[in-house]
Amino acid sequence: MQNIKEYQLIVIGGGPAGLAAALGAAKNGLNDILIVERDKYLGGILNQCIHNGFGLHYFKEELTGPEYSKRFIDLLPETSIAVALDTMALNLENSEDWRYVHVMSSADGYRILRSRAVILAMGCRERTRMNIQIPGTRAAGIFNAGQAQLYVNIEGYMVGKKVIILGSGDVGLIMARRMTLEGAEVVACVEVMPYPGGLNRNIVQCLQDFDIPLYLSHTITDIKGQNRVEQVTVQEVDQNGKPIAGTEIYYDVDTVLLSVGLIPENELSREAGVPLDPRTSGPIVYENKETLAQGIFACGNVLHVHDLVDFVTEEAESAGHAAACFVQSGGCVKQDGKIISLKTDSNIGYTVPQQIRIDDVEKAVRVFFRVRKIFKEPSRIVFRDQSKSEIASFKRLFMFPAEMENVNLPRQLLEKISGTELTVSVEE
Ligand SMILES: Cc1cc2nc3c(=O)[nH]c(=O)nc-3n(C[C@H](O)[C@H](O)[C@H](O)COP(=O)(O)OP(=O)(O)OC[C@H]3O[C@@H](n4cnc5c(N)ncnc54)[C@H](O)[C@@H]3O)c2cc1C
Repeated sequence: MQNIKEYQLIVIGGGPAGLAAALGAAKNGLNDILIVERDKYLGGILNQCIHNGFGLHYFKEELTGPEYSKRFIDLLPETSIAVALDTMALNLENSEDWRYVHVMSSADGYRILRSRAVILAMGCRERTRMNIQIPGTRAAGIFNAGQAQLYVNIEGYMVGKKVIILGSGDVGLIMARRMTLEGAEVVACVEVMPYPGGLNRNIVQCLQDFDIPLYLSHTITDIKGQNRVEQVTVQEVDQNGKPIAGTEIYYDVDTVLLSVGLIPENELSREAGVPLDPRTSGPIVYENKETLAQGIFACGNVLHVHDLVDFVTEEAESAGHAAACFVQSGGCVKQDGKIISLKTDSNIGYTVPQQIRIDDVEKAVRVFFRVRKIFKEPSRIVFRDQSKSEIASFKRLFMFPAEMENVNLPRQLLEKISGTELTVSVEE
C-alpha cells in the first residue's frame, strides 16, 4: 500500500478560481493546502487572454488576463499553499472523512493524495464541431476560437487568412478582433440565436469598431473544401432554428472559428458521485458552494460559465472560506435546519446556488442567474414561496442572456418563507 500524502484541502485547478479559493482558505486559517494543476503554469485560461478588460469590478483597474492572474500568483509565497504543476487529477473518490484524489505527473508518477475537503476548480472546455453537427467536408482550417487563441497568442502561429466566426460568444468576439489585428480578414460573425451570445462591450469593441458584420438568426449550413476550408454557406434560420431556403450567402474563406458554447469540466465530479444540474452542467451547490457531496466544494467555470473573471474570484474566495470552515469544524453547517430549493420560471435559465440552508446564511445569500431572452423594458425579478407570497423583488431596466445577473437575499427574508421552495421569475 503506497504512502498516501494528506492535506487539509486539495484544490483541483490552478486558474483564477483555484487560486482565489486556495488563498481564501489560507486567509481563513488553513495552512496545509495543495493546488493541483495539469498545466506547466498557474493562471488557467487567463494565460492566453492577452487582451485587457479583466479586473474592472475586483481591482477597479483594467488588466490583461496574465496581469490579473499574476496578482494572485504573487500572493502564494506569503502563504504555505503548495502547488503541484504538470499534475493531472485523474480521479476523485469521496468517503465520510476523507476525499481521495488520484493524480499523475511526469515527476512523481501516479499518486493518491487525500484531504478533508476538496475544491473543484477545473474550469470548462469549448463545444466542438461534433457537438453542433455542422454538415460538410472534414477539411483543415476549422478551429475552436479558444484553441485558435492559444495558437496565436501563446504558440505564435496564425491560424488563417480569411476567417468566418460561428457563434457570438465572448471568445469568438475577442478572436474576431485578434485575427484582424494580426492581419487576417474576418468576413462575418454568424449567430444562430436572435441575440448575441457575448457581452455588449465585446460586440462594440471587437466587431463594430472593426466593421465586422454580425448576422443574428443565421448559421453555417455547409463547409466545402478538399484539404483546407474553401467555402462556407450561411443561411438565415426561422424561429425553430431551421434554415430558410433562398437565404444562402456564400463566403470564400480558409478558416472557420467556432465559438458555440462552453461545457464545465465535470468528469471528475461525476465519478465522485457529485450530483450535477443539467441546466448549468455544473454541480448543484448550497449557499456556501458546497456540493451535495459533503466536503466537496465548487467554484468558477466548473460550477457555471461566467462572463467576468471578477465574479469567479469572489465566488472562489467564498468557497475557500467555506471549505476552511468545514475542515476546522469537521463540517460547520447545521445539516438539520430548513433547506430551500430555488426553482425558476421559463424566463430564467438557472440559479446558483440551487439550494439554501438558512441556518448557514450569516447576513445574506447572493444568487446568480441568467435570463433566457432579452428584456429591453424595465422588469422585476420576483421571488415567491410555495404559498405564492412575494418574498423579494428587484428592478432591472434591461437584461440580456449574455450577462450574468445577481441579487442578494437577506436572511430575514429567507426566514419568512413558507414551504421549502422559492421560485424566481421575471415579471415584465
Ligand atoms: C477567450 C476568453 C476570453 C475571456 N475574456 C474575458 C474578459 O475580457 N474579461 C473577463 O473578466 N473574463 C474573461 N474571460 C472569462 C475568464 O477567463 C474565466 O471566467 C476564468 O478564467 C474562469 O476561471 P476558472 O479558474 O474557473 O477556469 P480556468 O481559467 O479555465 O482554469 C481551470 C484550470 O483547471 C485546470 N484543470 C482542469 N482539469 C484539471 C485536472 N483534471 N487536473 C488538474 N488541473 C485541471 C486547467 O488546466 C486550468 O488551468 C474570458 C475567457 C475566455 C476563454
